[in-house]
Amino acid sequence: MRDLLLQTIPSLNGDECDKFVAYYELLIDWNTRMNLTAITAPEDVVKKHFADSLAALPFLPEGARVADVGTGAGFPGIPLLIVRPDLKLTLVDSLQKRVGFLQTVLQTLDLKAECVHARAEDFGRDPVYRAGFDRTVSRAVASLPVLLELTVPLLKVGGKSICYKGDATEELALSKNARKRLHTDVETVPVPSDYGMRSLIICTKNAPTPSQYPRKAGLPSKNPL
Ligand code: SAM
Repeated sequence: MRDLLLQTIPSLNGDECDKFVAYYELLIDWNTRMNLTAITAPEDVVKKHFADSLAALPFLPEGARVADVGTGAGFPGIPLLIVRPDLKLTLVDSLQKRVGFLQTVLQTLDLKAECVHARAEDFGRDPVYRAGFDRTVSRAVASLPVLLELTVPLLKVGGKSICYKGDATEELALSKNARKRLHTDVETVPVPSDYGMRSLIICTKNAPTPSQYPRKAGLPSKNPL
């Protein structure tokens, strides 16, 4: 595992490698009792979960407050935190069982992050969190129009919603209305990969989000903007 990690992410130091190894072991162990991931082979986990999660690193300022919305087993938030413990990270997921796993990972790896069991629609209306983040990160959670409604309300003006995608050409076209209503600009950043096309769709929030967004739980995906 250590060799694989260093071949794929040569910048890792010894402590970071130890943390990724421990994370892998917990992922595989807990995956026997709950559905966390279909990707389990060491090489695949290192490439498609760990290295893939790190793609947003250049877009996260020092000390940024970051929400990982729909984090599941902790991707991309936990790999980002392993190499950037300066981040003030909040991990959000609607499945309580996954939140239990995340708390165990954080404790074992001696990392600090807040874990919240919530639907993103409710989280984004909570005044404690709304408009409080510099960045959101999300991977494999929803199509772009839905994801923007779930994440942009969480951002400060000037903040960025970083969406991990494959080929997002179609989703980008479908998200025009959402981007207009939520007052965002968009930029696409290709991510080098030898396992299919990967990209980051980065949306910058230019003005406060109208108070009707996000709509109540379930509506963004049922009737996307
Ligand atoms: N981001 C992780 C990854 O890349 O491996 C998990 C992806 S998994 C396919 C989608 C996750 O998003 C699930 O854990 C699910 O519970 C969560 N999710 C979906 N819709 C959500 C919502 N509206 N609010 C919060 N979490 C949500």
